[in-house]
Amino acid sequence: METFKVSVVTPDGPVYESDVEMVITKAQSGELGILAGHIPTVAPLEIGVVRLIKPGSKEEELVAVSGGFLEVRPDKVTILAQAAEKSEDIDVERALRAKERAEQRIRDQKAEDIDFRRAELALQRAINRLTVTGKQ
Ligand code: ATP
Repeated sequence: METFKVSVVTPDGPVYESDVEMVITKAQSGELGILAGHIPTVAPLEIGVVRLIKPGSKEEELVAVSGGFLEVRPDKVTILAQAAEKSEDIDVERALRAKERAEQRIRDQKAEDIDFRRAELALQRAINRLTVTGKQ
């Protein structure tokens, strides 16, 4: 199967770069699977898991992303994310603490509060990180 270059980049620098056969991400419009030769496009992403299928391997690599954009160009695919972590770089204890903090805030606040939405997003990020590590 034909491969293409993928990089995941954050404001802190590159997080992932590799040749892959397929990228699967959660775009705001739904799940998006990209193969070599996909038409150029830009799609906003949700907080979610990026699944990267390496050549010839049945295993996939997982990267947690906290929203951002996927850009498909003829020569490569770039994911620009506010934050992104490879599964092996995720600190599970930290994500569990963030999840508990966010859940506490959600319990304490009213749904119309701005901080309620912030806590919901923090909860989504924490659950996403735990999902990527298989701890959720
Ligand atoms: P926390 O409350 O633990 O900081 P957060 O969701 O608010 O979590 P972000 O603002 O999304 O954190 O990310 C800030 C930086 O910390 C980013 O560089 C991100 O990659 C990193 N980061 C956040 N949580 C983790 C984690 N559990 N393991 C590894 N890196 C993390």
